[in-house]
Amino acid sequence: MQSVKHKDIIVIGAGASGFFAAINCAIRFPEAKIIMIEKSNKILSKVRISGGGRCNVTNHCFDHAQLVKNYPRGEKELRQVFSRFDVQHCIAWFADRGVKLKTEPDGRMFPVSNSSETIIACFLREADKRHIQIRIQEEALSMKSLPDGRLTLSTSKQVYEADAIICCIGGHAQSKHYDFIKKTGHTLSEPVPSLFTFNLPGDPVCELMGLSVKSATVKILSTSYKFTGPLLITHWGMSGPAVLKLSAFAAIDLYNCRYDAGISVNWTGELKETDVKTILEKQQGSKAMIINTPLFEIPRRLWEYLVSKAGIASQKSWMELGKKENNKLVEFLINDIYHMQGKTTFKEEFVTSGGVKLNEIDFKTMQSKKIPGLYFCGEVLNIDGITGGFNFQNAWSTAWIASQLGN
Ligand SMILES: Cc1cc2nc3c(=O)[nH]c(=O)nc-3n(C[C@H](O)[C@H](O)[C@H](O)COP(=O)(O)OP(=O)(O)OC[C@H]3O[C@@H](n4cnc5c(N)ncnc54)[C@H](O)[C@@H]3O)c2cc1C
Repeated sequence: MQSVKHKDIIVIGAGASGFFAAINCAIRFPEAKIIMIEKSNKILSKVRISGGGRCNVTNHCFDHAQLVKNYPRGEKELRQVFSRFDVQHCIAWFADRGVKLKTEPDGRMFPVSNSSETIIACFLREADKRHIQIRIQEEALSMKSLPDGRLTLSTSKQVYEADAIICCIGGHAQSKHYDFIKKTGHTLSEPVPSLFTFNLPGDPVCELMGLSVKSATVKILSTSYKFTGPLLITHWGMSGPAVLKLSAFAAIDLYNCRYDAGISVNWTGELKETDVKTILEKQQGSKAMIINTPLFEIPRRLWEYLVSKAGIASQKSWMELGKKENNKLVEFLINDIYHMQGKTTFKEEFVTSGGVKLNEIDFKTMQSKKIPGLYFCGEVLNIDGITGGFNFQNAWSTAWIASQLGN
């Protein structure tokens, strides 16, 4: 073990990345004095409610090239980060501390206990064992570097001197929470919500609420944003992985157009017009009622809705289907247009895009390029992932690197 260079370490924020940074710093530098300060009266509050109380710790994605694709912001920088601490390191870290993770069919990984309390208990045990001090209801207000290379931190309660500060204050919808970071000379990308569902007020499709389609392609009109995946029709509009992914990648554009946008849905997944026409042609001699013959794995109620939207009478058979009606049906199957007006927060997991600009951070160490000794990790950075455990993986990986304090 390398000699203890850093003695006084302050971690700002007792959330996911704050705990991970503090614990790993204590492991790396056992003689260091580590203090975590937390402005609220609760620690790990997001971890507790994460994944609907189950905590989606990470995602079973071991290929770094694949893994980074799940981050609309941060893709390039995370390649370097994951080369030092990735999903396998995360799984091993928890396993070494008695927390086994399990994988669900879609790749999401949860503690086998199905409870976020297991993760919290593990962090509290580790922090206690390593004598990390946790001070709640104390807010970081300003940071400065001193002539001798150390740093000072003023909080709502006192002034500290430290050899290193690890800033883990998470993502915030209001930019005022980042003011004390801006005062150090850092610039921030404006916070913008990510991971939300699309509202389609008054659209009759909402009457099909609760219905899901295994694979649909959703596209934002006049842009190149489109994603294919499961789609869920809700009381308010559309949700499900395809929509959430789209909301994350198009977060800034959708914010700029005030969540007022045209979207198109291909209910067949990724089939092209010619493929759909060929499949419909095969039905043409059939005496079966169109309404009774759902195709492309489209659920029956949705099929009925689309047939009726195409103006096809409910008692019509395939034999009786006219060319115009056939074309309308094809259009509604592959290019069904809706008007998004507003968004709804995805309660299971929502994040903020925006934060400390990535070109101001050295990703080998997570150290600020502006203030030596100041490190950033987690959602305070302009990095965010899609739903599925990717946001925590960013928190664990960046926090682990920061915890090594440049070593
Ligand atoms: C409802 C919900 C569910 C989620 N579920 C999942 C999931 O299952 N899987 C997943 O990967 N991601 C999930 N996320 C996202 C994930 O929780 C965050 O990406 C992650 O918590 C970020 O970690 P962090 O340490 O950067 O920030 P946080 O965990 O938010 O911690 C930041 C801490 O800093 C404190 N703080 C802020 N400012 C100051 C200050 N000035 N001084 C002192 N303390 C301060 C805050 O009070 C907070 O405790 C979810 C998010 C939400 C909202």
